[in-house]
Amino acid sequence: MSLNRHRCLRLQSLLIAPWALAVLAMAPELVSAAGSPAGVKAGGVKVGGVKTIFTGDVINGKKVVSSLNTDDLEPGRKHLLYFQGVQMATGQYWYVSVIVAKGIRPGKRFTLTSGVHGDEMSSVHTVQTIMGRLKPAEMTGTVMAVLDIARPAVESMQRRWPSMGRGLELTDMNREWPGNEQGLGAASRQAGLVFNRLLRPNTDLAIDFHTGTTGIDAAAFHIGDMGIPEVKTMMMLYPVPLIWDNPVYPSVLHNAFIKAGIPCFTPEIGPARRLDLDMIPLFVEGTLNVLKHYGVIPGPIGRTAVDANVLIGKNVYTVVSSQGGFIEWLVKITDNVSVGQKLAIQRNAFGEVLAEYTSPVQGRISALRSDATSEPGNVLVFILSTSAPASGAVTYGE
Ligand SMILES: [Zn+2]
Repeated sequence: MSLNRHRCLRLQSLLIAPWALAVLAMAPELVSAAGSPAGVKAGGVKVGGVKTIFTGDVINGKKVVSSLNTDDLEPGRKHLLYFQGVQMATGQYWYVSVIVAKGIRPGKRFTLTSGVHGDEMSSVHTVQTIMGRLKPAEMTGTVMAVLDIARPAVESMQRRWPSMGRGLELTDMNREWPGNEQGLGAASRQAGLVFNRLLRPNTDLAIDFHTGTTGIDAAAFHIGDMGIPEVKTMMMLYPVPLIWDNPVYPSVLHNAFIKAGIPCFTPEIGPARRLDLDMIPLFVEGTLNVLKHYGVIPGPIGRTAVDANVLIGKNVYTVVSSQGGFIEWLVKITDNVSVGQKLAIQRNAFGEVLAEYTSPVQGRISALRSDATSEPGNVLVFILSTSAPASGAVTYGE
């Protein structure tokens, strides 16, 4: 199908009722065969691929694409490109940085993503470091990195995508996948463009890197569904001490990949906003282990989850602040805690103790509030647990 026909479809879709827009969200040439990972050969026939479209623009010496098929790229080298994402109010575009390390031989195609949340810097640095270690002349397969997916959120160092089109909105892009190219918000449109024209057609296996968010420090851990064999295999190849065995929300990027038949999970790499240079190497080592396991790069497997004495829990329980005031922690990230153990005290501005917080479960601290103050209702701590909670404990939800 030609690009002009696609444009025609988009215009038509603007004339029909909003509830029908989702149906037309993806142009037919971009839709993969049902149940098949996009771009994967099924019965020897390639399905779901997209054409590489160079817009003709060059930014900072990098060519711009509006869709990409990594099969079109020269093997045995790295390619640095900008992907043309959603349009802004000025008529310009949010561009996304893409690195493709194209192996000298064909093999598994991995995609590494970061920057779906804009304040998660260690995820970007982890992917940069991995890509810097790859030598395409020795690779069997392709690794694509997409580094700054929620560009305006990255520009403003915040979790959510800011847009002004309908008054100020802040949108959590990791509740928008797989997105909608005709969606009413910029984050949904960006997700749709990136997913349909860049991620899905070029991916056999994916890893979506994150960190804690501003105000919450996190341990090194994974979120993913251990019931999916290749997700379990990948997660266990990292030397990290915690795995939350849970699919979480349907609209996160890793679940959009899984729904498209592409195994994916979410590593979480410590605190937001700054680089955790002690924790990042664990995720670089783990990802290189994954690439070695699937034959993309040569070399022996390094440390794994077993070496990190991993705790795998199906539930994360939270303790929520009942008062407003200053929080003083009595525990640290990755501490093991028992039922009833005192976790924190909270004072008012006079220094009087307003509240004491205890653990509702036996488990391991996976994240805790780093801001020293808290309003009532803020989550103070996340505890990964394998056991049933004492009465009154709540599992994590939004
Ligand atoms: Zn995140």
